[in-house]
Amino acid sequence: MTGLVVAMDGPSGSGKSSASRGVARALGLRYLDTGAMYRAVTWWMLQHGVEPADPAAIAARAADPVLDVGTDPDGPTIAVGGVDVAGPIRGPEVTGAVSAVSAVPEVRARLVAAQRAVIGSGDIVVEGRDIGTVVAPGAQVKVYLTASAEARAHRRTAELNGGAAGTTVEAQRAAMARRDALDSTRKADPLVRADDAVELDTTALTLDEVIAEILRLVKERT
Ligand code: C5P
Repeated sequence: MTGLVVAMDGPSGSGKSSASRGVARALGLRYLDTGAMYRAVTWWMLQHGVEPADPAAIAARAADPVLDVGTDPDGPTIAVGGVDVAGPIRGPEVTGAVSAVSAVPEVRARLVAAQRAVIGSGDIVVEGRDIGTVVAPGAQVKVYLTASAEARAHRRTAELNGGAAGTTVEAQRAAMARRDALDSTRKADPLVRADDAVELDTTALTLDEVIAEILRLVKERT
């Protein structure tokens, strides 16, 4: 790894995606959304009738979905088996099943390898749950974003209602708590802050403030 790698981890709704894209844009770096890859595999499993709650069934098909992920921060793309799934992977079916699918070690092994291949020699901002701990432990800059449950639920609700999905803050708070609990307690690569990650609580910060703070960190570390 020679170029810069910025690892951005944290729970859902902590503001990872917007901040990661903003930082990548500001620095002319690529951007990888690893959550989109887990979502794409989950979409493929649902599409092929593989039961998300059956880890053995998921493991048996883990090598089958063929992913193609684009890293332009202005227009990240994700396709599986040649089908553009950028829209469907954000739907409630995939969101409800993704934590179960991503807890399966065979899925993780395959996606971690694919993510490392995309990272290559670096010059990239990578967001997920295990980037600083597992995917890119040598990253020069590691950020762990958090925000209060209240702020995260409000952000996610606004995002989803912007897409006309129709949801409430309460429903989102419950769904996110469930997903975070699953992501943090699974055996394989759980969501956990890397020892050398800088924790940034975004509850009271604007997006521009979050981006500015990360850019400051990058400057300090490089
Ligand atoms: O970031 P996003 O909310 O789109 O991620 C969807 C799900 O993918 C997470 O809830 C988690 O189960 C899984 N994930 C993961 N490891 C990553 C990124 C996402 O397990 N690096």
